[in-house]
Amino acid sequence: MQAVTRYLRSLMLLELLRGLSVTLRYFFRPKFTVRYPEEKTPKSNRFRGLHALRRYPNGEERCIACKLCEAVCPALAITIESTQREDGTRRTTRYDIDLFKCIYCGFCEESCPVDSIVETDIHEFHMEQRSESIVTKPQLLAIGDRFEAQIAANRERDAAYR
Ligand code: SF4
Ligand code: SF4
Repeated sequence: MQAVTRYLRSLMLLELLRGLSVTLRYFFRPKFTVRYPEEKTPKSNRFRGLHALRRYPNGEERCIACKLCEAVCPALAITIESTQREDGTRRTTRYDIDLFKCIYCGFCEESCPVDSIVETDIHEFHMEQRSESIVTKPQLLAIGDRFEAQIAANRERDAAYR
């Protein structure tokens, strides 16, 4: 009996009509397609994208070469070398991040005691050569300088949850 019912239903194209009714219903509803890159969806202020090294307002780099970020990085993506300056403070002479190794976990910024290494909300970046995956200290500082206002605003919004 079930087979007969199924046969009759298939003759009447009920499944097809049901499918078309769904198409028709959604045809007149507002569309959710985002025309990226012209249109963009909002991003969380905790978004973890391209890294940056920050400076204090007086221009001094924040990083004190404690190497906590290097130690905590699960992907071994950070390489730091450091030296002591004449004033007794310690600073990095090399700070490299391999973006191909990085898994954007955010542990480096969580571990940093001076808010130096951060992940910005920049996700639109690319490399054309294998070697470009290594971002160096001058590059990281330049990113920090360029986007400091945005980085500071995002961290301000997140401050209550830290
Ligand atoms: S985001 Fe995670 S994987 Fe990437 S450099 Fe920082 S700690 Fe390493
Ligand atoms: S970025 Fe922060 S955690 Fe990493 S070495 Fe510098 S001060 Fe230490």
